[in-house]
Amino acid sequence: MLQKSLLSQNEEQRRVTALEKQIQLSAKDFEDEKLDRQSMQHQLHKVLKELRKARDQIARLESAKQTNARFSEPNSYNNFERLSIDDPPGPTSPSKVPDLLDESFLECPRCRTPYPTSRHRELLAHIDYCFA
Ligand SMILES: [Zn+2]
Repeated sequence: MLQKSLLSQNEEQRRVTALEKQIQLSAKDFEDEKLDRQSMQHQLHKVLKELRKARDQIARLESAKQTNARFSEPNSYNNFERLSIDDPPGPTSPSKVPDLLDESFLECPRCRTPYPTSRHRELLAHIDYCFA
């Protein structure tokens, strides 16, 4: 009698364990989906953050250009040398202003690969996989 109830208890235990396993599996599936979504969202946030940083950098470059154009002394030009490597030396003519942005470079914050500002989309794509 005791033996039998013990057996059915074991049987019950096995069934519960199987059920728990099933629940765990579907919970895991759910968790995986959640993690996928989270990592996608995380990735998106990261890219948006980098995009914002790139935009800040563009804004900084643009204001550096404006400052640069205002001062004609070689010394103040040198201050922005790193930011405007590809600028032709000497004063820039006003007609060139729309092209200035294209000659600026943005760096991947991770591996420092330079991308022309005009190709910031490529930089964003690069950042996407460089940070992955
Ligand atoms: Zn990179």
